[in-house]
Amino acid sequence: MNTAPLNIAIIGSGMAGLTAAYVLGQHGHRVSIFESQAKNGLAAHSTAFGGGMIDAPLRVMNPQLWSHTLALAAHVGLNLYRVRTDMACSWTQHGHIGATWFSSRRHPRVNFPLLGNWRHMAAVPQLAWGIYQLKQALTRVHELDKDISLHAWLQRHPMPSLLWQGCVVPVLLTVCTCDVATLLQWPARPLLCFVDLLLQDAGLYRLHGGTQALASALQQDTLLYSHHAVTAVYQQAQQVWLRDASEHSHCFDHVIVATPTQACGFLDNAQYATEKRLMLQLPYSSGDLVSHTDTSAMPQHRRDWSPLHYSMSRDFQNHSFSVWLNPIEASLDNDATPVFQTWNSLTPLQDSAIVQHTRLNRSVCTVDSLRSVQALQDLQAASSNTRRLWLCGSWSCDGLPVLESAVTSTLSVCAHLGANLDLRLGSAQVVTVSP
Ligand SMILES: Cc1cc2nc3c(=O)[nH]c(=O)nc-3n(C[C@H](O)[C@H](O)[C@H](O)COP(=O)(O)OP(=O)(O)OC[C@H]3O[C@@H](n4cnc5c(N)ncnc54)[C@H](O)[C@@H]3O)c2cc1C
Repeated sequence: MNTAPLNIAIIGSGMAGLTAAYVLGQHGHRVSIFESQAKNGLAAHSTAFGGGMIDAPLRVMNPQLWSHTLALAAHVGLNLYRVRTDMACSWTQHGHIGATWFSSRRHPRVNFPLLGNWRHMAAVPQLAWGIYQLKQALTRVHELDKDISLHAWLQRHPMPSLLWQGCVVPVLLTVCTCDVATLLQWPARPLLCFVDLLLQDAGLYRLHGGTQALASALQQDTLLYSHHAVTAVYQQAQQVWLRDASEHSHCFDHVIVATPTQACGFLDNAQYATEKRLMLQLPYSSGDLVSHTDTSAMPQHRRDWSPLHYSMSRDFQNHSFSVWLNPIEASLDNDATPVFQTWNSLTPLQDSAIVQHTRLNRSVCTVDSLRSVQALQDLQAASSNTRRLWLCGSWSCDGLPVLESAVTSTLSVCAHLGANLDLRLGSAQVVTVSP
């Protein structure tokens, strides 16, 4: 275990890079972060709106599945609040939102989702029967072989299409932000465990101040070189050299790569051939996230508006979701202009209503990609005594590439460097805010 302070470079300042900076900084190491964007990657797309703040993307977490992230948030003094997850589902037709066929709401005194509007009664028998079948199918989900894809699982457990394609798939697409074909290739277990948790009403939470507050708390006094895209990394004797886009070279004891794996072109071809081969095998998918005030993305009738609005074509081939931010983001005034975040909109949004448009890239999982991830994790563990280059990020997961996998993979790298943080799980304080 190292005791002398090390000189460590971190490439990338998303959740993984900032976690590394915080943990290593707490252990007295000298840390420099190199980031290609103008500000830290975790909050790079957050934007001020109407006296509040829009997180883009808006991140939610569950205490069971995001235990390390929330313990880290508690460590830096951030609290949580539970968000409303009522949903509405509408068909799209002729390029606009058509009939809303389902909506749910939660009564404050009854801890159970209720039908949001009696007009959607027609969907209830199929949905109720589907939920019963789904719960039966999920009883032994934790024992499911990790090589089974969602498609293969579904063939063994057919579900009524209104529940599966109309409700469960849209919820999973919100978590995975990919297309339906990619979702079906995803390993079934992590997704179904998530669905199981939601059916038990485990709840989704947000951090007070959003990811912006988390980013500032984690970054603290660490030196962040923004606009510093790294272009080359190579090792000479016991030092790792890093070159940035301005052709400046810097020398470190260790380098932590916390970028998407696709960005690994800067790693020396000869020295890091195995790492690069495995990293480039990991798949990604991209999409458009638009924050806006265009109410046409919501159900036609205001009474059907819910924090989550799923729109879909009648053949269930095309999906989009919109989050109504006011009831979810504590800093946005509930009575002010409604503001939304829409992922891959199926209907045109008015240019004048667009607050921000961001193209986002995201790691996705297949049964094969999880093997490559495991090989990368094993490679690091096997050579940990001599290794100077470390890899982490949300891609390093066992099925959900989210903030939690960014944190856990980084904590593992920090542990290899002798830096362990005493994260007391369950210490995050839940503070209720009225939506
Ligand atoms: C629409 C959407 C919704 C999401 N919702 C949730 C959610 O509710 N909950 C949740 O937990 N997760 C959610 N996620 C996922 C989560 O946001 C990501 O998994 C996580 O932010 C990735 O963190 P990371 O540190 O691994 O990578 P990144 O955030 O991608 O950070 C990598 C950083 O490296 C920088 N970089 C790249 N190349 C270079 C280079 N050559 N030199 C220097 N810097 C470089 C990049 O600019 C970037 O800042 C969502 C994602 C999307 C797209």
